[in-house]
Amino acid sequence: MPALEQLMEARVGGHWAEASSLEAGRCPGRIGDDSSHRQGVRLMIIAAEWVIDGTGAAPLRHARIGIRDGLIDKVEGVEGIVASTADISFPGCTILPGLIDTHVHLTFGALDSHEAVVRQVTTEPEPILLARAIGNAQAALRAGVTTLRDCGGRGLLTLAVRDAIRRGHVVGPDVLVSGMPITTTSGHLHYLGLRADTEAEVRAAAESMAEAGVDFIKLIATGGNMTPSSNRLASQYDTPALCAAAEAAREHRLHTAAHVLARCALPQCIEAGIRTIEHCMWRTAEDRLEFDAELARRLALGEHYVGFTFTAPTWRKILPTAAGLDAALMGDLDARFDTERRTIDAGVKYTIHTDAGVRQTPFGAALRYVLEAAVQELQLTPLEAIRAVTATAAEAIGLADRGIIAPGLRADLLVVEGNPSRRIADIGNVRRIMLGGEWVSFPSASG
Ligand SMILES: [Zn+2]
Repeated sequence: MPALEQLMEARVGGHWAEASSLEAGRCPGRIGDDSSHRQGVRLMIIAAEWVIDGTGAAPLRHARIGIRDGLIDKVEGVEGIVASTADISFPGCTILPGLIDTHVHLTFGALDSHEAVVRQVTTEPEPILLARAIGNAQAALRAGVTTLRDCGGRGLLTLAVRDAIRRGHVVGPDVLVSGMPITTTSGHLHYLGLRADTEAEVRAAAESMAEAGVDFIKLIATGGNMTPSSNRLASQYDTPALCAAAEAAREHRLHTAAHVLARCALPQCIEAGIRTIEHCMWRTAEDRLEFDAELARRLALGEHYVGFTFTAPTWRKILPTAAGLDAALMGDLDARFDTERRTIDAGVKYTIHTDAGVRQTPFGAALRYVLEAAVQELQLTPLEAIRAVTATAAEAIGLADRGIIAPGLRADLLVVEGNPSRRIADIGNVRRIMLGGEWVSFPSASG
């Protein structure tokens, strides 16, 4: 067996635990009564002090969730009878939808500097990269991320990660991948392997990714911080090239995501109908970010979602070590957050992502800081921040079956101690994780 397949066969993450459940019809309480005739379909009831459903609504107090067949069956508040009628109850805890990180890089190692990350991802042997990518996905899952979207990796390794998890070879979150991002010859992330300069080449590149089996197409619309040979203030493509890629994606029923660090690419993305605009920086010069109300209005009117990026330097108010990190590249963070707040106020739909894998932004550990920073810097309520990584995130990436705790949706759940709607940092106090109706079990997990 080739080394790569051997690695994929290795169960590096443990196993699925048997779900605690009751036979339908034998369960106490109202949940399940209306469908007790469905013999053989097992129902599990879990209860917690609070349930945050992901829509931004206030938490449900003393709530129970019925889970059947991998799906949420019913949700109800049952003041005062939590412990007695559930299979498992979590006093003092909150149940949320499993989190959705819409922008990560599974093959990146979160090393100290951009240069180190690039060197590692371009020089390491594929089996090692693949193993790290699986480890990264599992670290995210441990932190409560039940769905993640890889926005660009080396070669087609991320497809192998996705498929190894879906086939049950390894434990991991549900993964959506773009394969290699489409970029110009010396453009941002060109070292990942997919280069296209002309409109025809861009279309062909999108076709090739679609045929390889990716879940969406990622375009690098401007230069980026990790690639000194690129210009982060300039568009990499003309509008017809972006349109060609988006059209090819639509023909394969895929959506598109574009990396945007400069405002000049925003009208192009609107024109091309790019669904998710990653980073959405309003930068117009090295030392300037300028919000444009008319552009924001067009973003709000169209089928666009902007993704705000909270990598390590944005944790400046939470982690002293993050303050001043990459100051030259990051520029004036206050100005950046001001443009983002105005984007939100203009009614543009937004998600929040980790960009995990980039320098000093590790999978799993990053998540809590990302949400804390987003709350502080964008003046969001905790519930708004949670919605940006649950309901809105699912909508942005086209997954109608998750992101909200509601009947009929996937039972991807996160149980944390405390109440993140009051104190967002509580999102880091992970107690249990449920994936498709099954509790996730890691070898080192307790309880
Ligand atoms: Zn990225």
